[in-house]
Amino acid sequence: MIPENPYLLLTPGPLSTSKTVRAAMNRDWCTWDSDYNGLVQTIRARLVELSQGGSAYTSVLMQGSGTFSVEAVLWTCLKPDSTLLVVSNGAYGKRMARIASQMGANLRVLTFPEGSQPDPEAVEKTLQEYPEISHVGMVHCETTTGMLNRYIPIADLASKWEKVFILDAMSSFGGIPLDIRAPKIDFLISSANKCIQGVPGFGFVLADRRRLQECEVNSKSHSLDLVDQWQTMETNQGKWRFTSPTHTVRAFLQALSELDEEGGVEARYRRYCENHRLLVQGMEALGIQAFLPPTDQSPIITAFREPAAPNFSFEKLYNLLKSEGFVIYPGKVSQAPTFRIGHIGHVFPEDIRQLLNAVERIKFW
Ligand SMILES: *Cc1c(COP(=O)(O)O)cnc(C)c1O
Repeated sequence: MIPENPYLLLTPGPLSTSKTVRAAMNRDWCTWDSDYNGLVQTIRARLVELSQGGSAYTSVLMQGSGTFSVEAVLWTCLKPDSTLLVVSNGAYGKRMARIASQMGANLRVLTFPEGSQPDPEAVEKTLQEYPEISHVGMVHCETTTGMLNRYIPIADLASKWEKVFILDAMSSFGGIPLDIRAPKIDFLISSANKCIQGVPGFGFVLADRRRLQECEVNSKSHSLDLVDQWQTMETNQGKWRFTSPTHTVRAFLQALSELDEEGGVEARYRRYCENHRLLVQGMEALGIQAFLPPTDQSPIITAFREPAAPNFSFEKLYNLLKSEGFVIYPGKVSQAPTFRIGHIGHVFPEDIRQLLNAVERIKFW
């Protein structure tokens, strides 16, 4: 027998899942059988419902981690005469730009410091200055810092200037309420192992049907061609091109049911907010300050400044907390030493209280 989880993952994905989500993986499925393909269709429809997209939207599942789905969107929707503007304030914005650049796409990057909100005025100025920009991409929750980017003014600008708007909502979709139609998001990307609380193995894209249809035969990557994958799923009622992560898909369906049981996205959002509130309050009481001001923090993950004490070491903190049953996350902010604690997943206020007790117990600096 494989032992129970030895620790809780306080990481932004993969994250701690429920026992029942893991148990759902305990059988094999045939990747093209109708029993299995029916599950896929149910998932696709549920994702569109969660996005509030209605009949104008569709969803496509894509093998791989979340980054593969970001890359699939860019291969699929950028044409040789397209120009992508990436609005970036962290590692994931940078990654989107890196993918576009490596593809040889026409690219502009508008960079804001980590820890600063993207400035809509600067975005509008860039759109005016470079009318060749056809697509605007950005990240919703910038997992680098835990900043919840205010995407709405930028999406409004994309609509106003008739640009295709791409949102990497990887670490927020399902955990933060959002309406994909208002303002309009043309392509929204997320993955199985974030706020839906499934296990890793695939990403998914919510797309405006008309926009997606326009992208037929664009992609120069075969395996990351979202339209081809979509058409196969539509025509064959839930069939994937190529081997699909069957166990992960079954676990994801269970995770979606558990999201419903919890009370939907609103209820999950409230739990994440409570986890976050307790964590920040407790850490600050222990003298550890959050990197961002409260108004910019997300209920997803929080970056904390490393204590200035000369004997502080992240590695030591990590190892001591791991032995107490909690796995935390290293920092990714380039300008300041930080570490991160995630509060999404099958994690509850009581777990956060236990974590804070553990931090107090092991405090060595
Ligand atoms: C997790 C995450 C991704 C995807 O990362 P993978 O490691 O490929 O799953 C992309 N963007 C953001 C904002 C994320 O949090």
